[in-house]
Amino acid sequence: MKQLSRSVRGLTVLVTGAGSGMGRATAEVFAAEGAHVAVTDYNLESAQETAKLVVAANGSAEVWRLDVSEKAEIDRVVGAVAAHFGGIDIVVNNAGIANFLKIDDPDYDAVWDRTVAVNLTAHQRVIRAALPHLRRSGSPRIINIASVEGMGATAQLSPYSSMKAGVIGLTRSLAVELGPEGITVNCVCPGPILTGMTADIEDNDKVVFAKRRTALRRYGYPEEVAHVTLSLALPASSYVTGIAIPVDGGHMARNA
Ligand code: NAD
Repeated sequence: MKQLSRSVRGLTVLVTGAGSGMGRATAEVFAAEGAHVAVTDYNLESAQETAKLVVAANGSAEVWRLDVSEKAEIDRVVGAVAAHFGGIDIVVNNAGIANFLKIDDPDYDAVWDRTVAVNLTAHQRVIRAALPHLRRSGSPRIINIASVEGMGATAQLSPYSSMKAGVIGLTRSLAVELGPEGITVNCVCPGPILTGMTADIEDNDKVVFAKRRTALRRYGYPEEVAHVTLSLALPASSYVTGIAIPVDGGHMARNA
């Protein structure tokens, strides 16, 4: 049997939006497994807080402020991360925003443009900036965080839903394009998760939604998503590419 490494120890992972929710959990989980984590977020203080948690748990992390809607910042930070850690093996495109609004809302265009920039354009730009470094890695991995909103949909969330479907398309296309180089590109599609993004939803509404719409009858925890991201990043996950995996407590599986 061919020996395949089940560890990310010593590998470098760049996580966007790592100051909160699933990004923070991803940083903590990878660091706990011995990876070097580039903690990036446009909110520097929250990124620093994540790094503190990682270091307190004896992990390896460095912080960069990165607004993923700024191309020049992406290029600069990706270069700095690679220089600091001596390369980049894994990219986790996690930063994202969500706004509820109707299709005839006067602010629709502005929200659409911002959502394209942060939730879709940023993904391809981070990937393009990291590609030369990934090409030098022994087990290059790209993991995009999309959403079940890219598979099904919720009313008044059309910019978000459109971009998440776009992320799934980007994932598949790049998986096919970069496959010959051994670079895997996959997508994690979280369902309802307890993070900053869902913090404004009333607790009771969360309970009712989860009971009616998920198989597990509950919201998920950010670390439950981060562990799936970790699995896809393992060197041993070398034959998984182009997939969009729901991590949703059975939300997509449930009809009634
Ligand atoms: P969160 O709000 O807790 O974290 C998002 C992080 O992204 C924050 O730290 C924020 O500062 C950062 N961010 C926002 N805009 C940024 C920018 N321009 N540049 C850099 N960083 C930026 O939310 P979360 O739920 O942890 O979201 C993580 C990802 O998971 C997002 O892509 C989101 O769409 C996706 N997702 C979330 C859920 C959910 O239920 N929470 C479900 C499906 C998908």
